[in-house]
Amino acid sequence: MSDLFATIETPVTKYEQPLGLFINNEFVKGAKGQTFETINPSTEKGIVAIHEATEEDVDIAVAAARAAFEGSWRQVTPHERGRYLNKLADLMERDVDTLCAIEALDNGKAFTMANIDITNSIGCLRYYAGWADKIHGQTIDTNPETLTYTRHEPIGVCGQIIPWNFPLLMWSWKIGPAVATGNTVVLKTAEQTPLSALYTAKLVKEAGFPAGVINIISGFGRVAGAAISKHLDIDKVAFTGSTLVGRTILQDAAKSNLRKVTLELGGKSPNIIFDDADIDNAISWSNFGIFFNHGQCCAAGSRILVQEGIYDKFIARLKERTSQNKVGNPFEQDTFQGPQVSQLQFDRIMEYISHGKQAGATLAVGGERYGKEGYFIQPTVFTDVTTDMKIVQEEIFGPVVTVQKFKDEAEAIKLGNSTQYGLAAGIHTKNVNTAIRVSNALHAGTVWINSYNLISYQAPFGGFKQSGIGRELGSYALENYTQVKTVQYRLGDALFA
Ligand code: NAD
Repeated sequence: MSDLFATIETPVTKYEQPLGLFINNEFVKGAKGQTFETINPSTEKGIVAIHEATEEDVDIAVAAARAAFEGSWRQVTPHERGRYLNKLADLMERDVDTLCAIEALDNGKAFTMANIDITNSIGCLRYYAGWADKIHGQTIDTNPETLTYTRHEPIGVCGQIIPWNFPLLMWSWKIGPAVATGNTVVLKTAEQTPLSALYTAKLVKEAGFPAGVINIISGFGRVAGAAISKHLDIDKVAFTGSTLVGRTILQDAAKSNLRKVTLELGGKSPNIIFDDADIDNAISWSNFGIFFNHGQCCAAGSRILVQEGIYDKFIARLKERTSQNKVGNPFEQDTFQGPQVSQLQFDRIMEYISHGKQAGATLAVGGERYGKEGYFIQPTVFTDVTTDMKIVQEEIFGPVVTVQKFKDEAEAIKLGNSTQYGLAAGIHTKNVNTAIRVSNALHAGTVWINSYNLISYQAPFGGFKQSGIGRELGSYALENYTQVKTVQYRLGDALFA
């Protein structure tokens, strides 16, 4: 086998893994011949060496995407675009176990939980396949001599940069709306988790997409990511990741061609439990809200706020519930929480934990490494925290939650809105009036009532405040990938005098 493919064996499947950059429907080596190793976070050992994209490769991929956009892809009907996306979804469905196994291997997420990602990725592609032939403008009555109408046209070549926490799900959130609306794409995966997108690139070719429509590159943020962010022939950049890098992307656009930018950034979302909440329900959703995906969710309910009447009971129950989360080998059937994605993330989280202890918070549960090998961290709960503490203000992106007490609705809202972020929030109460009043008052792009972390590809998702710009998913995402053209056709033969 060439060094563009490798056979990988997981406890679930043995499969052929592409290793190259996917440009113009072919897997190729990087221009500089560099590779980097992707690591299994459960064992800390290398899985395989992947070809690395540098600036030159970004140029090549952008040229391929440009040629497809100006050429063959424009000739494809909207209906056909939808068919390609549906075909890709069919192939992902066929290979669902392989895709789940790749995520478990490369990202560390539990195999059973990876199924949620893959199922939603497939659903997302099908959802946007349905939109492909339903994108249209308006006719506008301006005056009797003129036919005025609008067209919703694709933007062009889209640079897309995705993170490692939901590798294939983020892939589908980006590819689905971009391709359905007739754009072409150069997508860079996160350096920690390149494998599932490369495998899916193979399916892109099998689905019959014309060459150059979807280009997938692996590489580092400061090299390939920065090259996308600065590229003068990219018309739009869509980014998901840290607020820090999001700022750079916006600055790059402002300094050069003013390409359109959408950003899906971090969060520090409150999950608010009122005295009258159903306690069993609130405990389950609070646990899932923070510990799902090992706390590596931008929308994680990482600040639990509990009303004083139920506080002691809630803490006791949360401790009990948290200790039931099975941490360990992602391939074991009953595992809920696998390892964090990398040594760097592990170190960052452990640093936040020691900071919380030093700042005087009470460590109610966890706080330690789990096991001797792999980037596993015990589910961790801090109580007796204050709003100014770093662990309450900053995104930890790990299995760490803070719990704060509040007196009344006004205080819950004040605490809920007390960070720079505004991605999501949860409210648990049996009182409809409380639920609606508080959800209206919270600065958050999504509010879950009596649930948490239920993201639907049919509904928009994105941030208030410093959690982002624009909305992904739902019909709203179509606006990110289309631009409106007004056409005015003057009727009749009268000369303009
Ligand atoms: P990051 O923002 O550095 O990386 C996300 C993506 O951006 C990756 O593909 C990376 O290669 C790319 N990137 C990095 N630097 C870039 C640059 N200068 N130009 C263009 N692209 C660049 O995130 P990280 O370092 O992997 O994680 C750091 C923190 O970010 C986490 O602890 C978490 O708080 C946050 N984060 C948020 C999300 C989210 O879904 N909102 C996802 C991942 C990380």
